[in-house]
Amino acid sequence: MSLCSIARIPIRRSKRSNSSPSLALPAVLSLNPPVPTKIIAVANQKGGVGKTTTSVNVAACLASVGKKTLLLDLDPQANATSGVGLEKIEGASAYRPLLGDGALIDKIQSSAFANLEVIPSEVDMCGADIEIARAENHLQRLRLTLQPVVDSNRFELIIIDCPPSLGILTLNAFAATDYLLVPLQCEYYALEGISMVTRLLSQLREGGINPNLELLGVVMTMFDGRTKLSQQVVSEVRQHFADKVFDTVIPRTTRLAEAPSYGKPIIHYDKYSAGSAAYEVLTQELLQRLGMQE
Ligand code: ATP
Ligand code: MG
Repeated sequence: MSLCSIARIPIRRSKRSNSSPSLALPAVLSLNPPVPTKIIAVANQKGGVGKTTTSVNVAACLASVGKKTLLLDLDPQANATSGVGLEKIEGASAYRPLLGDGALIDKIQSSAFANLEVIPSEVDMCGADIEIARAENHLQRLRLTLQPVVDSNRFELIIIDCPPSLGILTLNAFAATDYLLVPLQCEYYALEGISMVTRLLSQLREGGINPNLELLGVVMTMFDGRTKLSQQVVSEVRQHFADKVFDTVIPRTTRLAEAPSYGKPIIHYDKYSAGSAAYEVLTQELLQRLGMQE
């Protein structure tokens, strides 16, 4: 039991003596310590590979199986924000807390979906890269502002949708996260990104930005079973990353591309579609890797 959970145990005073606390514990007290919040950054410096689609849908699937989940949109494009049906509102994002103005925990909004809460993004976040670069501890800003959210034990998982660059916002996500989830699109140029991922991981670990950073896995997206190229790319990526590549491959489907325009993750837009099934199975695999499967 951690010290903080011990600290929260109410001590029942004995009726006979006010000075000696009874060791009898209330019946409702759970002896299981709270599970520490796990943070997963969904990142790839390449644009349009399925980062946001994966963040939104994995977060929604986690929430649908009862995991208290926070989706943190760190991309000024704010696609994850609109993808779960929230408005891009000025002042609602992580931008100001990252610059030391206000608390990140106050930016958390509920969504229309049970167990899924969101810190949205908005256009102001565009300026964050430049402004944060000037601030003290500029690579650790997110880690520091996120700490009270983690300490609140309000969430089992935090999913961070990163922008398509290796700018300050993405580096902050890398410094703050426990795990990296890398979507790779099933296309020829995906292969070029592979060596970058491995190189970057060792730089972040060895450079002290995040010595504990772990690659949770690589997820192949927009798989088109009719093309030889998709199959070749998957098999080459598997050769390189072996079992780091998730067994689940996300198919290219129109329903997945349509869902964001309705502000709904695929399980709420079209539960019985192939895209929904793929993200549900991917989420189970992910929970298994995290040792969090029921
Ligand atoms: P960016 O780098 O701009 O943030 P991204 O990596 O977050 O992009 P997405 O926004 O998730 O990528 O996807 C890019 C486009 O491809 C979007 O229009 C999205 O709807 C579509 N898309 C993503 N995954 C699929 C899929 N499996 N099938 C069909 N379309 C998809
Ligand atoms: Mg995106």
